[in-house]
Order: sequence, then C-alpha cells, then structure tokens
Amino acid sequence: MDLDLLPMIISRFHMKQIEVISFDAEGTIVTPDFSEAIWREAIPALYAETRGLDLAQAKRRVYEEYEAVGNQRLEWYDIEYWFSYLDLGSSRRVIQSCLDKIAYYPEVIDVLSSLAAKHRLIVASGTPLELLDFLLAGIKPYFARVFSSVSHFGQLKSPDFYLKLCAEMGVKPSRVIHVGDSWQFDCLNAREAGIHALYLDRSRRDHEECLSDLSQLKHILSLSV
Ligand SMILES: [Mg+2]
Repeated sequence: MDLDLLPMIISRFHMKQIEVISFDAEGTIVTPDFSEAIWREAIPALYAETRGLDLAQAKRRVYEEYEAVGNQRLEWYDIEYWFSYLDLGSSRRVIQSCLDKIAYYPEVIDVLSSLAAKHRLIVASGTPLELLDFLLAGIKPYFARVFSSVSHFGQLKSPDFYLKLCAEMGVKPSRVIHVGDSWQFDCLNAREAGIHALYLDRSRRDHEECLSDLSQLKHILSLSV
C-alpha cells in the first residue's frame, strides 16, 4: 500500500467506533502451506495408492475433479465431501500428516497481540471447522469468536454470512473492519453487508488501497487514535 493513501483510507472510517476486527484465515493469517500439502499433495498421493496410479496421473485426475466443482460451491471447501467422493476412507490420517505444515505469516502474532488490547478480534473463514480448528490452534486465545461460514451457516462468505456474524457479535456492520485476501469473498461481499473491508494482497501487485501485510492494519488503527 502506498502510504500516501493512508489518510484517505482513514478518513473513511470512524476508527474510534471500530469495535470488532475480523480476519480471514487462509492467505491472511495462515500461510497456504498446510492447505497445499493436503489438497495438492496428500490427497492425490492417497488416491494414487488406492487406485494403483502413479502420482502424476493421480494429481491430474484429482485436480480435474476439484476444478469441476470450483470455489463457488460449498463442496470445494468440504474435506469430508472429498474423502467420500473420492472414496478415500477417513480423512484423519491425512490431516494429521500435514499438521507440521501449519504456519502463520511473520507479522501475525505481533499484530494480533497489539490489536487484541483495544478491539474484539474474530476470524471469518470459509474453511470448515474440521480444518480451521487445527489451523488456528496456535493463536486461538487472541480471538473472541471463530466463524466458519460453511460449518456455522452452511454457506460461502456471502453478504448474508457477514450480517449473521455481526448479529452474533451484537455489533453494527459499520463498526467492523474485515481484512482478507479474496477480492470477492472478503471485500465485495463484506462491503455489501456494510462492513469496512480491506483487501490484502501479499504479492504486492500494487493495487490501489490494498494492504501488503497485516502490520499496515496496525499502522492504520494506531494513526486513528
Ligand atoms: Mg483467504
């Protein structure tokens, strides 16, 4: 983010009225390493083993199945759906084998610990709880609540999901900031619900008004006090 844009972003919020700061999980606080290990490696490897295919063949087939569903459908996110659909038995062993890949972005602990002093922090994720609980295990105490759109409300991160989340928290959307790395699910849909959404682009492709890491969120909030 261009620091010259900060005053513009800040002027749009009444920062002192911000009560809740909401974070997407994957790509925002948790790196993609765990998900990639499960979806791109461990599931195809198990599929190869059970079907007697080589790994490259298995990857091709499994990836095609993923693409045929796509990330606009609930099944995309549902590990139990995939284990059942691909006839792979229990997901437990595969999940366990990937737990050592869970990692947080470098600035996350510092940002959460300083923001938690003044705000209620929550997670608003599209990842089902079967995986989300593991992903957040190391940082759970920072959050007042963890919401999985799929597990709690049976939907993707739609405007309706954000409204329900605000109702559960007893807060007006205008008093919530949400930050995430999906333009559609974290920005457009949250904004439609009336939430202040900040787009995180860690690839630093130089969008206008986007954060390139979460420490900038801390900066924005500290300037407003
Ligand atoms: Mg994300």
